[in-house]
Amino acid sequence: MSAQAASTEDLAVVIGLEVHVQLETETKIFCGCSTEPAEEPNTRTCPVCLGLPGALPVLNEGAVEAAVKVGKAIDAEIPETTRFHRKNYFYPDLPKNFQITQYDEPICQDGELEISHEGERRVVGIERAHLEEDPGSLRHVGGSIDTAEYTLVDYNRAGTPLLEIVTEPDFRAPQEVRAFLAKLTEVLEYLAVFDAERDGSLRVDANISIVDADEVDDETGAIPTSVLEDANRTEVKNISSHKAAEQALAYEVTRQKNAVSRGREVQQETRHWDEGKGVTVSMRSKEAEKDYRYFEEADLPPLEVADWKEKIEIPELPDARRERFREEYGLGEEAADKLTSTKQVADFFEDVAAEFDPDLAATWVADELLGELNYRDMAITDVDDRFGEIHRLVELVAEDEITAKNAREIVLRTMLDDGAAPDDVVEAENLGKTGEGEIEAAVETAIEENPDAVADYHDGDDGALNFLVGQVMQATGGSADPGTVNELLRDSLES
Ligand code: ADP
Ligand code: ZN
Ligand code: MG
Repeated sequence: MSAQAASTEDLAVVIGLEVHVQLETETKIFCGCSTEPAEEPNTRTCPVCLGLPGALPVLNEGAVEAAVKVGKAIDAEIPETTRFHRKNYFYPDLPKNFQITQYDEPICQDGELEISHEGERRVVGIERAHLEEDPGSLRHVGGSIDTAEYTLVDYNRAGTPLLEIVTEPDFRAPQEVRAFLAKLTEVLEYLAVFDAERDGSLRVDANISIVDADEVDDETGAIPTSVLEDANRTEVKNISSHKAAEQALAYEVTRQKNAVSRGREVQQETRHWDEGKGVTVSMRSKEAEKDYRYFEEADLPPLEVADWKEKIEIPELPDARRERFREEYGLGEEAADKLTSTKQVADFFEDVAAEFDPDLAATWVADELLGELNYRDMAITDVDDRFGEIHRLVELVAEDEITAKNAREIVLRTMLDDGAAPDDVVEAENLGKTGEGEIEAAVETAIEENPDAVADYHDGDDGALNFLVGQVMQATGGSADPGTVNELLRDSLES
């Protein structure tokens, strides 16, 4: 934008992302090395991922499959053929001095992803998504990138399959970026191509510029291409979480708006997000495309993906599943959101709902289980080997063998804290519901021992009945069903 002073209200924010996600495959994208993290550096390497002379890449089918799944999920165009290129640059994390990536024939083009932000649904355009290899990782010893004494290189990560997802400059606020990353993560996890828990599995470069608010179409929010192209933008690197993306961009919004409102021009440059200090710092002027001298990767023939596109199926995605849960099980919005938060939660809920009442299943999965997990800072993945036990717990409640209160407050909590099985907790804590015979006996005793309360009851005092219920509950150690106690007491009192 022109270097003319402007008030910050007249300014609009434009953001576009380049999101690198590690695809979950057993082996690397061009060799057979494992992608499992290793303790020891440089132990998951071979001549291919070390870039030794003469070593040839062989494309991993699993990585292509994962990319096609993502393409289908974001409604992208997947071409008949896709091709690999070499991107040349010199940096110690890149042993070949070029990165195998895709250039003008990426595996996905023109997709979109819907986000909801502040109650509004918005579609974010996805320009492209392409496959590439991850570089190795660097460890700067005794300082940061520019002050370190020396730097160590670990090639374990080199060759891990990456999908770089490039969005259109469709974001108008840092919070939208966060919503997008959450949604993208959710979709990738549903597709089982991505592990969000893994360190460094998502890395974001965020492009941001400031334009005149007048350029934004009131109706559509669109901004003319010429304006986008002319705007000086910064590219913020080193963002590795949803939260960091929002923070780094919020910082950049303020910095750029301040510059513009003082009549200064924003420099077109690459900046680095310093997480510790909470600031972005200038790194270098941005490379131009010609610096990379892209040329075709002659060691990998063009890949025909047309057939893959037909054959590869993807599961029902979170939005569709949420809708279906609401209709099929009559769930409210909040419950449907919680129950579709991950594919695993949704699958488990449907398992339980198929056998018991959907309302009971929803309560037990969405409220009790997720609530207790959340309280303990645990995730569903921490209990996925215990679904059978949790299922059994719901069964105990459904069949009226224990009270819901005991199931929640004693059995589930003990299960999570001590790893105990539900039936063992029921037995150890003596939670099995008291049989009717025992309740009847306790009812008789309560009536005999409390003549005053009985008289009050006959005088129409409701509190007297509650008092007697309390006596029976106490006598049965709280394991009697309150409804049954009520009923038996009334029967005895009225007879
Ligand atoms: P480059 O030629 O620098 O690679 P691209 O057009 O491929 O530029 O876009 C790279 C990223 O920059 C994309 O995520 C895109 O959305 C974003 N972008 C493009 N124009 C702008 C802009 N004016 N402000 C912010 N981000 C932008
Ligand atoms: Zn290797
Ligand atoms: Mg680009």
